[in-house]
Amino acid sequence: MANSENLQFKAEIQQLLSLMIHSIYSNKDIFLRELIANAADAIDKARFLSLTNPDLVRDWEIRISSDPAAKTLTVADNGVGMDRDELVQNLGTIAHSGTKAFMEAVRKAKEADNKGTDTLDLIGQFGVGFYSAFMAADKVVVETRKAGADKAYRWESDGKESFTITECDLSEIGTRVTLFVKDEYTEYLDYWKISSIVKKYSDFIEYPIRMKHTVKDKDGKDIEEDSTMNSMKAIWLRPESEVTEEEFNHFYTYLTQDYGKPTKRISFNAEGASEFKSLLFLAAHMPFNFQFGMKNKKNLHLYVKRVFITDDCPGLLPEYMGFVSGVVDSSDLPLNISREMLQDNPQIARICKSLTKRVLSELAKMLANERSAYETFYKEFGRMIKEGVHMDYSNREKLQDLLLFESMNHPGKLITLKEYSDAMPATQKEIYYLSGDTREALENSPQLEMLKKQNFDVLFLLDPVDEFVLSDIGKYADREIKSVASGEVKFDESIQKDLEEKAKKAAEDNKSLVDFLKKALENKVKDVRFSSRLTESPCCLVSDKFDPSVNMQKILKAMDKNAPDYKRILELNADNPLIQAMKTLHDKNPEDPKLSEYAELLYDQAIISEGGLVSDPVVFAKRTIELMTNSIQKDIGA
Ligand code: ADP
Repeated sequence: MANSENLQFKAEIQQLLSLMIHSIYSNKDIFLRELIANAADAIDKARFLSLTNPDLVRDWEIRISSDPAAKTLTVADNGVGMDRDELVQNLGTIAHSGTKAFMEAVRKAKEADNKGTDTLDLIGQFGVGFYSAFMAADKVVVETRKAGADKAYRWESDGKESFTITECDLSEIGTRVTLFVKDEYTEYLDYWKISSIVKKYSDFIEYPIRMKHTVKDKDGKDIEEDSTMNSMKAIWLRPESEVTEEEFNHFYTYLTQDYGKPTKRISFNAEGASEFKSLLFLAAHMPFNFQFGMKNKKNLHLYVKRVFITDDCPGLLPEYMGFVSGVVDSSDLPLNISREMLQDNPQIARICKSLTKRVLSELAKMLANERSAYETFYKEFGRMIKEGVHMDYSNREKLQDLLLFESMNHPGKLITLKEYSDAMPATQKEIYYLSGDTREALENSPQLEMLKKQNFDVLFLLDPVDEFVLSDIGKYADREIKSVASGEVKFDESIQKDLEEKAKKAAEDNKSLVDFLKKALENKVKDVRFSSRLTESPCCLVSDKFDPSVNMQKILKAMDKNAPDYKRILELNADNPLIQAMKTLHDKNPEDPKLSEYAELLYDQAIISEGGLVSDPVVFAKRTIELMTNSIQKDIGA
């Protein structure tokens, strides 16, 4: 037999293992659930391979055994097994989904530690695969033989710094995971304890989970019985009324690693052009892998006539529906379908279409009937709905009705486009929004003054992508969707004309001041004009009609730092005493050097009043101090 080889765990695994070993997590049962899930996955893979390679067909089973004297617990499967490299890769590094997401979550929780997040809670939320074995064991041995390989390998570790790999004997293809159970965990060697965990968490696993144990026969003699501990009933094929909520929830956990309850469950069977049965769950929490940019497609399992095909079927649902997990069991697809055949498959496209339709209609129903639950869901997954608006043109109309926004007139509430549109006063012709970082900054924006007076509502876009989404939509109920900080605002004819005339007259009366400001601020603004949107403030900044807003510019700059800068338009309020005073000063002495200082200050305060940052705060402060000094000196007659 070849020499044993000692290998170091990758650093993150060492951290993870130390967490597991020192874990006092209350729900210890999960380690067994995780090992059984891995065994079932391995059989899924082997069974899939056996569809095209009949040599691999066998009597699939997961076998659990325990040896109370040696204090060992073994979970064995006759699935795909691993070769040497896979052993090192899978059980020594952190390349795979669940565990990686878990460690990211631990890192994040640590960063935000002042919030008191307990990393051990995260074990509960995730289930962390194989390594959770070290919660219950001080040594773990994995013996495995891959289909087609003539050698078997033994991986062994105490979960500290390293593991060893040695060749070993294993006649069967598959994997045996043996736990040397810690003294305080010996209850896990007991058949009844094991069987209750299996029933609770793994009942729906489609392969028999068997264990031999001793029972008394009718004469009181000990006899050995080999029991199948799970019912193996495919949960999606059972009548809904016969499945308990708890069973559904465990199945959801099995699929998603989310130990909470799903937001919604959808049982959906299709007949006709495409026949399938499906059991779907709308997630309750954003999976951590999503937050780190990894799209997790592995939560939606494709079966064909009860045979697991893949957990990564391209096009089974649109990408943005990552919040959907579950099972789709098709009756039309061929059993021996390959990955290549799944790509661009018209049957899959049909299934996708009807699943998408169903999920969207469930969401619409939830929005209508369970508003608060929908809002909770939206807070987690709103971004994906928005992605859908952008990506899924064919369903855009349905998706846009699922969007929620803050708005000026509804503090503390979220509203839909429909609600906004239905509540518009007859005098309002367009749908308005304003985007920014915080509600507080938006509420005080000068751009809103005239709209407030007219009792128009304004959507507040606090998520940077909202503006892109609304520009994708363009129009809702035939009403143009527009930024109040861009182009012109359209008021009712009754006042629009007056406002226009007033602005025109102001432009004529103040031509010299406007020309001066244009010159003085030529590096900063594109134009200076009189405004119809201001009632109080002296001025505000708006984007030109077809230019991107400040918010969009920020995003464009983040994507490409060479993105062009767009200057904005300075709009003045003719009724404001400051503007009037500047006009008088300018008329008196157009050469007064204070005028250009005031022009700069005017511009900077416009930026500040919309919640922005002035480009040179030191100069701004200096100018303000000078102004205050002059004013005070005048007051005290100095
Ligand atoms: P996850 O299941 O989230 O990928 P685990 O830590 O549970 O993470 O397992 C790591 C990897 O080790 C699995 O992805 C799989 O490739 C492999 N593995 C674990 N258990 C088995 C098994 N019983 N048979 C074959 N491969 C296994």
